[in-house]
Amino acid sequence: MPKQPSRPTIISDPHAMTAWAEQQRNASRRIGVVPTMGALHAGHVSLVERSCQECDATVLTIFVNPTQFGPHEDFQKYPRTLEADLAAIAHLLVEVAFCPTTSAMYPPDHATRVEVAGPAMPWEGAHRPGHFSGVATIVLKLFEIVRPQVAYFGQKDYQQTLVVRRMVEDLNVPVELVICPTLREADGLAMSSRNAYLSTESRQKALRLSQALNLAQERFRAGARDAAKLRAEMLALFTDVPGAQVDYVALVDPTSLAEVADLSETTVALLAVRVDGTRLIDNARLGA
Ligand code: AMP
Repeated sequence: MPKQPSRPTIISDPHAMTAWAEQQRNASRRIGVVPTMGALHAGHVSLVERSCQECDATVLTIFVNPTQFGPHEDFQKYPRTLEADLAAIAHLLVEVAFCPTTSAMYPPDHATRVEVAGPAMPWEGAHRPGHFSGVATIVLKLFEIVRPQVAYFGQKDYQQTLVVRRMVEDLNVPVELVICPTLREADGLAMSSRNAYLSTESRQKALRLSQALNLAQERFRAGARDAAKLRAEMLALFTDVPGAQVDYVALVDPTSLAEVADLSETTVALLAVRVDGTRLIDNARLGA
């Protein structure tokens, strides 16, 4: 009999999580893990769905990871909505929601973190010093605690997928990574937990991000190949938007993240923009 969806077991103790996962592996069950910071939206749920389809046991992790936030970032105000998160996945068979405390993940005497370079250096890495080290550290800890066969990440955080892939290869972590497409609202806005910070007016302004990506794809389809020219056109979309401050707009090689001079199918458009103080990121491949 296939198991029916039911409320997941909530585990907060990392040792209990490890013991549970070991039992699953001993029973030859394939474990999928979906790392999140909670405040789940349909984008997160699509990752969980994929894991449920492809694995025997799905572990959703919910942890607002302090080490990936800068000192003036939104760690304190980041939405924490556990009950709503559980409701959002209630239709799925998620066996465990792993929700550790900060002190369990980072005991006061902890002294180790993952150092990252390569794909962690430009763009987000330059604008958020320490961010990817914090991401790599928490992802490696989750991988060690759960030891999943598969882990699910979103294309929405394109650079993060490269950083995690590099870490997995460099540190010989035996996990398969699955990268899932970005889910968007009907009007194109990429789903993000941080969209909750946007007022109605700010949300309208935020549409410029996906509009800039659409523009890039349209221009590419129409034959544009000059990256500098396209970048200028994308930037121009933000000049008349009060309260919009561009951190970067870049047309990059999908692997090295270096800016390209000539556009191709595989070029990725990356952007980060603060909209009335809320920092939003988005990306798209030109030959989508
Ligand atoms: P977060 O809770 O923001 O750390 O995101 C957890 C995971 O969900 C990451 O792998 C994200 O890339 C992914 N994710 C976030 N937003 C979306 C989206 N709109 N569509 C698909 N995946 C997403």
